[in-house]
Amino acid sequence: MNFEFTEEQTLLRKTVRQFVDTEIIPYIAEWDMNGGFDPKVWKRLAEIGLMGVCIPEKYGGAGMDYNSLAIVCEELERGDTAFRTAVSVHTGLNSMTLMQWGTDTQKEKYLTPQAKGEKIGAFGLTEPGAGSDVAAMNSFAKRDGDYYILNGQKTWISLCDIADHFIVFAYTDKEKAHHGISAFIVEREWAGFSSKAIKGKYGIRAGNTGELFFDDVKIPIDNLLGEEGEGFKIAMSALDNGRFTVAAGAVGLIQACIEASVKYCKERETFGKPIGEHQLVGQMLAKMEAGYEMSKLLVYRVGELKNKGVRNTRETSLAKWQACDFANKAADDAVQIHGAYGYSDEYPVARYLRNSKAPVIYEGTREIHTIMQADYVLGKRNDKKLRCMLPSWPFE
Ligand SMILES: Cc1cc2nc3c(=O)[nH]c(=O)nc-3n(C[C@H](O)[C@H](O)[C@H](O)COP(=O)(O)OP(=O)(O)OC[C@H]3O[C@@H](n4cnc5c(N)ncnc54)[C@H](O)[C@@H]3O)c2cc1C
Repeated sequence: MNFEFTEEQTLLRKTVRQFVDTEIIPYIAEWDMNGGFDPKVWKRLAEIGLMGVCIPEKYGGAGMDYNSLAIVCEELERGDTAFRTAVSVHTGLNSMTLMQWGTDTQKEKYLTPQAKGEKIGAFGLTEPGAGSDVAAMNSFAKRDGDYYILNGQKTWISLCDIADHFIVFAYTDKEKAHHGISAFIVEREWAGFSSKAIKGKYGIRAGNTGELFFDDVKIPIDNLLGEEGEGFKIAMSALDNGRFTVAAGAVGLIQACIEASVKYCKERETFGKPIGEHQLVGQMLAKMEAGYEMSKLLVYRVGELKNKGVRNTRETSLAKWQACDFANKAADDAVQIHGAYGYSDEYPVARYLRNSKAPVIYEGTREIHTIMQADYVLGKRNDKKLRCMLPSWPFE
């Protein structure tokens, strides 16, 4: 067991923190209010190597380990959840899935430009009638010679209007239930594809989320990811990577809550003393600190398991569930500590609270993770090695 960060990881954290402090935090209140961030940020994320942190150098990435990805997510979400969500979707859900399941040709064509930040990837699983219950999806891809013809709709898809490539899940054989779902790589430019943003979101307002529509989209058979019928397994393995990034981001959000609250606790006085000296206020800070430290341990353990190349669905689910719950509670308490001022745009804590809610819903709701953990404890779940495992680190 080693609790030390490497020099490279420490430098990475410093770089991302500096980027967040100078290029995100000064503008985020405006981006949050206007419903989108400056597209130049994408270019900057690529320039400092954040679009493919844990993707091997041979595919255009930085070749760092999986805990380096956690560090990036933590630091980005300290600035705003929208940026961590973008990395979760682009790297965690899309690029790492291509790295795990893609053919050499698919990796060269899609993973390499994504890792370099030249193209952006996203992930389309959820449908209007199928969220937690993935198998309730209706999208269907019918084989027709050298193509599949895809029809259907996805909703609540992050980066829906921004991404160039999407990993999309659809039935190829409805009678086989979970075993009849397949995964495809779909390009935005193909005929029959369209997207539309959802307006009026509660949080992550600087981010782009919305619907995808597929109207007779012709997908070349070479863009089938994995084997026909392997889509459900691919989706769940993608979530093992996405959830890891969500959990890491939650750590960063807790840190942002602590920073804002400690500052306010020293400034604001009631009954003749700074509010931090009232024990009940201190208790809220103490709980934030406990959540922060516990979440970090859960997250970095998962990073280590990924580095070793072992299956980590159980540990990832626990880290995601707990870290997101801790972050949601920390943000609620941060608003409480700020009193009425916390209930306005004057301080960032109201944004933290709004942002902390979606991660308790996406990539497995709080309830789904609770059920998963109960099933593990009861011995009802047993994860086996997958046909394609995420490569261990250091990469070959
Ligand atoms: C900001 C944002 C971004 C998103 N980005 C993406 C994305 O990029 N790609 C993508 O594919 N999806 C994305 N999603 C969708 C997200 O993954 C789904 O919202 C999530 O899976 C939950 O599905 P649902 O909203 O349909 O809720 P439902 O599944 O309808 O659940 C509704 C409620 O019932 C509970 N529930 C459901 N089943 C059970 C059960 N068996 N036992 C107990 N309780 C249960 C749930 O926990 C929840 O409280 C995003 C969502 C948000 C909010």
